[in-house]
Amino acid sequence: MSTITENLNRIRHTLPSGVRLVAVSKFHPSEAISEAYEAGQRIFGESKAQELRRKSEELPADIEWHFIGHLQSNKIKYIAPYVAMIHSVDSVNLLREIDRAAEKEGRVIDCLLQIYIGKEDSKFGFSTDECMEYLNSGDWKLFRHVRICGVMGMATNTDDETQIYAEFQRLSQFFEEIKHRFFDIEDSFSEISMGMSHDYQLAIKAGSTLVRIGSDIFGERVY
Ligand SMILES: *Cc1c(COP(=O)(O)O)cnc(C)c1O
Repeated sequence: MSTITENLNRIRHTLPSGVRLVAVSKFHPSEAISEAYEAGQRIFGESKAQELRRKSEELPADIEWHFIGHLQSNKIKYIAPYVAMIHSVDSVNLLREIDRAAEKEGRVIDCLLQIYIGKEDSKFGFSTDECMEYLNSGDWKLFRHVRICGVMGMATNTDDETQIYAEFQRLSQFFEEIKHRFFDIEDSFSEISMGMSHDYQLAIKAGSTLVRIGSDIFGERVY
């Protein structure tokens, strides 16, 4: 059995039902993705638009491609025909541009709002206040070609598990709050994307529904 297959099986055993695995394949070759595909994995995460497009053209059509990186408006066109979910919607402008691109493709694209929960200043995303204010405005309801399916967040890169867990819990609570206020009648608002290789166990404890795991499956990335 290949290492990728072993890693996948090991991780899958630890995932409760209701938690889906996004295998983060960014910077890894299509061959590595094929191995994971053979082992039954169908959801893959990429962080560069052109890389996602290239791989989606090379690999089986039933793969669900998730976009997880910072997305520039001028790159949306590369992924609009292929992408199943964009986890990293970090501005109103980006949401509007995704809506436009999806309309051109005759699609509705599932999106998550990226919420800033960590301590590092450089992280992309809405603050919880900004996000609340935007949802309150109701402007997002005008977009017919995006569907807001939940939230995404990244914890601070630290060894302090108490802090990581607290940040994930904050995201979970925020999800519940906005679901209750704005999305209660919509079953599709159901995803909390949090947890990476080093912290996914904590994320699951805090209520994650989508974990994004790269290096634990494919090994270290070579940039
Ligand atoms: C790269 C990346 C991951 C995966 O990170 P690993 O530490 O390799 O598991 C998850 N989420 C985002 C947003 C990423 O950019």
